[in-house]
Amino acid sequence: MLLYDEPLWRPPSEGNSIILQVTLGCSFNRCSFCSMYRTKRFSVRPLADVLSEIEVVAVAAPHVRRVFLADGDALGAETDHLLAVLEHLATHFPQLQRVSSYALPVNFLNKTDADLGRVRAAGLKLLYYGIESGSRDIQRRITKGATPEVMIEGIRRARAADMKVSATVVLGLGGQRRSEDHIDGTIDLVNQVPLNFLSTLQLGLDPSIRDEFHHKFREPFIPQDDRGLLLELRRLVAGISPPRPVIFRSNHASNALPLGGTLPKDRDRILAMIDAALGGEVPLVPPRFRAY
Ligand code: SF4
Repeated sequence: MLLYDEPLWRPPSEGNSIILQVTLGCSFNRCSFCSMYRTKRFSVRPLADVLSEIEVVAVAAPHVRRVFLADGDALGAETDHLLAVLEHLATHFPQLQRVSSYALPVNFLNKTDADLGRVRAAGLKLLYYGIESGSRDIQRRITKGATPEVMIEGIRRARAADMKVSATVVLGLGGQRRSEDHIDGTIDLVNQVPLNFLSTLQLGLDPSIRDEFHHKFREPFIPQDDRGLLLELRRLVAGISPPRPVIFRSNHASNALPLGGTLPKDRDRILAMIDAALGGEVPLVPPRFRAY
């Protein structure tokens, strides 16, 4: 129905959403572990093109309930641009329930609280936010372009604007040497913010960026094996005590052990599953079936 500028990415939970490319690429595009948008230069697509795509989809699928604004950080578009898109969506899809997008820490530096409130009121209800690691040191080594304080500030401002925030953490990002710092820093960050959703991914480096990742890590990087990743997952789940219950998932296709529940309520059950996997009583997803 739509002609996309590929590659096209979306969160797993947006599988039934209409994907609308408001921007192309990622305005930061320098995280050393991420190859998603390396082939694209960031740009905001012409408003007229996006609005006419909405009209095309509305004719073919008028009952759309969910829309995901792509690519890497649609929130990086100017507020008035976003508002025009959101208002067009609301006009053309009367049953629309949710619009979502990825968000970067820098987006919050460039938006006022009033901007966030306006885009929320116009329908942008859910932001996917890559924490990756809460460790200041790991954030530097992966050139995340943010500090824990900036990350926390972004999440708090999104939540204050009544947006839901779904955050991701990348298991294995500190390698074997910095595993504890990676997870403990992440626990410390997560426990300071009222996230709605928290998901884990497992590190998978595309060959095209492997050398850059190793170079920027500034020391030999020893990848985690499955046992190390499960121990990271265990440490993370055991340590999370956020200010409000958080829906936890490890259901991204990269994970060796798909899990789900609400933390802290389901902590013991999830830990028991991880322990069973560590003990070999629960099979892991074979590596050939994992996708990064
Ligand atoms: S992880 Fe996110 S912010 Fe970093 S380069 Fe990839 S898309 Fe951009």
